[in-house]
Amino acid sequence: MLQYMGSSSYWHETSRHVPDPALAGRHDVDVAIVGGGYTGLWTAYQLREAEPSMKIAVIEREMIGFGASGRNGGFAMTLLDMSLAHLRRNRGDAAAKAAHEAVASSVREMGETIAVHGIDCEWKHGGLMVVATNNGQQARIDADLEAAEALGLEGFTRLSRDETQAEVHSPTYVGGLREDHCAVLHPAKLARGLAKVVGKLGATVFEGTSVDAIEEAGDKIHVTCPKGDVYADQVVLATNAWARQSPWFKRKVTPLYTYIAMTEPLSDEQWASVGWDSHCGIEDKRNFVHYYRRTLDGRILWGGSDGIIHYGGKIAPRFDRNTAILERLTGTFRETFPQLGDVRFTHHWGGPVAITVNFLPMFGTLLEGRMHYGLGYNGHGVAPSHTGGKILCDKVLGKTSELTELCFVDSKEPTLPPEPLCWIGAEITRRSLLRQDAQFAENKASAEMDPLLLRVMKKLG
Ligand SMILES: Cc1cc2nc3c(=O)[nH]c(=O)nc-3n(C[C@H](O)[C@H](O)[C@H](O)COP(=O)(O)OP(=O)(O)OC[C@H]3O[C@@H](n4cnc5c(N)ncnc54)[C@H](O)[C@@H]3O)c2cc1C
Repeated sequence: MLQYMGSSSYWHETSRHVPDPALAGRHDVDVAIVGGGYTGLWTAYQLREAEPSMKIAVIEREMIGFGASGRNGGFAMTLLDMSLAHLRRNRGDAAAKAAHEAVASSVREMGETIAVHGIDCEWKHGGLMVVATNNGQQARIDADLEAAEALGLEGFTRLSRDETQAEVHSPTYVGGLREDHCAVLHPAKLARGLAKVVGKLGATVFEGTSVDAIEEAGDKIHVTCPKGDVYADQVVLATNAWARQSPWFKRKVTPLYTYIAMTEPLSDEQWASVGWDSHCGIEDKRNFVHYYRRTLDGRILWGGSDGIIHYGGKIAPRFDRNTAILERLTGTFRETFPQLGDVRFTHHWGGPVAITVNFLPMFGTLLEGRMHYGLGYNGHGVAPSHTGGKILCDKVLGKTSELTELCFVDSKEPTLPPEPLCWIGAEITRRSLLRQDAQFAENKASAEMDPLLLRVMKKLG
């Protein structure tokens, strides 16, 4: 029987937050940043570090970390695209290496910034263990290790079946790899701690303030909010999944809901039966990955398994939980850790991530150089949004750098079809990916993606 006691996001519950005031009246700034998640906050941070006198307003509709940044699994990891092997195959060696190394640097730099400013966000740099639970997944791990070696990347180690199972005791593991560049953290505490730092550095954070329109007004950009207006030289759009609601990104991103279940704290005996002495994050190699990690108070966060796209890219509070997916999550948890058969689940929540056609984030500039955007992390934005903050900072300052040359900056972004084709296509893709996951589990399929899907994706971008 499902023992779900019902609660909201554990991260929100365990992070006290006194919101900043809403915006009222007229504000003239150098840069207005729309969206109070990691992308907006890291951009504000980088800008104030680079130009301490710059006037910056961060405008968040709900509260800091309300979006994916306050709800995620808390893995700061290097993953871009579907996998390292996929990134290399699609973008080539030089671009894949540069992109991977930029995000790996971000993992290091995030740790440094968190330490320097004393942000209490439970940062643990314990690496990532990627596990295979069948031969198809093992082939994907082999391909990633081959790509890492071909690109000369450091920090990847192959793990045998015995080594993987010795680290974490699950009978389902057939092999794995360890990647050093990964940390786990408390996502809402990071977002809110970062907002405080940004405020101390001199940016102004407004919460409970919806940006209703962004328009050119002479040599300024006019940002309209319910009780006030901002006139800015430049704007940064950092609304990720919500960008689908803006005219510029209707056909560029689609929100996908991903979900998490969290257990009660495990007893010492239960932990002894699992092993897992470190704070390494764990992901498997399904298309719809399972991602899981420990919390500081001894729970297991268990996420992934499936994802839902709603018609028209709709985002609404009623989608924040999904009983069917919760059942699936608890089921796969018990398959993975049969020794924890009676552990209870105390929290369940989800949130929207932004999916792009080519599975890469997108950074660029609109409104004749005066509005920059960074979004579309495909569910892996914790560390890439730090890289994104650096890219957007360079863009605002008009600088070209190694970062502004990355393959997902100012690139030709593929377009989604209009509704209802978008939703139908997304649903066909989802089912096909889930079918392949199921076939892998029965050791039936080859390790390649469905060839039809690959052809469609190639055509789109
Ligand atoms: C359940 C879940 C688990 C995840 N797990 C991981 C993980 O373990 N590792 C990982 O790397 N990634 C993970 N992700 C993805 C990661 O959280 C995101 O990629 C990242 O947080 C994106 O940050 P962001 O600032 O771009 O967007 P968001 O954090 O979504 O912020 C966008 C903000 O814009 C605000 N906004 C929208 N419209 C307006 C408007 N008109 N006016 C003002 N404000 C507006 C929203 O309220 C929101 O706060 C997960 C996501 C989810 C949902």
